[in-house]
Amino acid sequence: MNQEAIRKYARFAVRMGSAVQPGETLIINAPIHTAAFARLCAEEAYAAGAREVVVHYSDEQLARMRMAYAAEEALDDVKPWIQDSYTSYMKHPSGACMLSISSADPEIYKGIDAARIDRAARARAMAMTEYYKYVMSNQAKWTIVAIPSPSWSAKVFPGLPAEEAEEKLWEAIFSVCRIDENDPVENWQAPLHTMHSRADWLNSLQLDALHITSANGTDLTIGLPKNHIWAGGSEFSPKGVEFLANIPTEEVFTAPDARRTEGVVYSTKPYVFNGSLIEDFWVRFEGGRVVEYHAEKREDLLGMLVSMDEGAARLGEIALVPATSPINRSGILFYNTLFDENASCHIAFGKAYPVCVQGGSDMTAEELDAAGINQSNTHQDVMVGAEDTNIDGITADGRIIPVFRGGVWAE
Ligand code: ZN
Ligand code: ZN
Repeated sequence: MNQEAIRKYARFAVRMGSAVQPGETLIINAPIHTAAFARLCAEEAYAAGAREVVVHYSDEQLARMRMAYAAEEALDDVKPWIQDSYTSYMKHPSGACMLSISSADPEIYKGIDAARIDRAARARAMAMTEYYKYVMSNQAKWTIVAIPSPSWSAKVFPGLPAEEAEEKLWEAIFSVCRIDENDPVENWQAPLHTMHSRADWLNSLQLDALHITSANGTDLTIGLPKNHIWAGGSEFSPKGVEFLANIPTEEVFTAPDARRTEGVVYSTKPYVFNGSLIEDFWVRFEGGRVVEYHAEKREDLLGMLVSMDEGAARLGEIALVPATSPINRSGILFYNTLFDENASCHIAFGKAYPVCVQGGSDMTAEELDAAGINQSNTHQDVMVGAEDTNIDGITADGRIIPVFRGGVWAE
């Protein structure tokens, strides 16, 4: 692949994604097979004035082995140093930001006892609550950026020779991440502006609820909390530094009122959960909580997803993405949430972003509960937007405002 384009992509991820500032530490999460790209990111971060670049390597083959063979109680035993290896830098006066490289085999845990995976995922989430607090409140700027691996490329482009599949996945990633001969920062200005202005429009409406319908059977009403905030495009740290948490991003999103979701919603894309695929599913809500669900494939995993903890059965995000998004238009199913969630309207089970309600970042757990902002140790985005999705906004005095018509913004 074009090394210059890869360098440009790394620079964009460092400068606009995690937006590392002079004197700040950058922590990179990198699967071992992405070491070359991690080094490029490190070079770019030092060039941007980083105090230090700390790389945490992982190895999905070793992770699979552990999941298969480690002693059961070892799966629960997440040592405090794992969280400290992030938060000790974030607490330091010079601060730290994150860059995670996503490159996983979507089915790395295929065939492994789902209960063991669930157990390990819960233990890890429980052990990382302080870390999530830094990240989800944007105190630690963060970004996720993806690069192809042989196994991932083969899943997206089955039947092609390995090298060709990887090449095609690079091309697809560059295309939807707007990496071309021009400056990517420039390329992103117009789409970011559009997302910001949609968010501003929705913020000015302060809707009481959204009603989402589609011919596939989706008929879902999502209540929105008082003083909710729609966000989208780039985000800002408490110090006002702009960063791009997901590369790419096409969504405008907010936190639902965790107590006021009613009705049925159908999935429109398979969902990679804990290294396996859940396919063709629906979920029914009452009083904000999942009360019934069904999946054609891996219903057991769907059950685990919505019962990881109390908050996992409630919604922590509603995100609006038009069917005209470049990722949806590419027609590619990426089997990676980073891309697939930006092809389609989605909801997330679990934790809401506290920044999605006024004053949320400073609220205690009790205050978040009272505001309807969902809390959980998980956050799982599932795709529910279809080409024919209609969304009505319902105002506090009962007026209907068209938000989406036929899968795209109504106005
Ligand atoms: Zn989202
Ligand atoms: Zn999400």
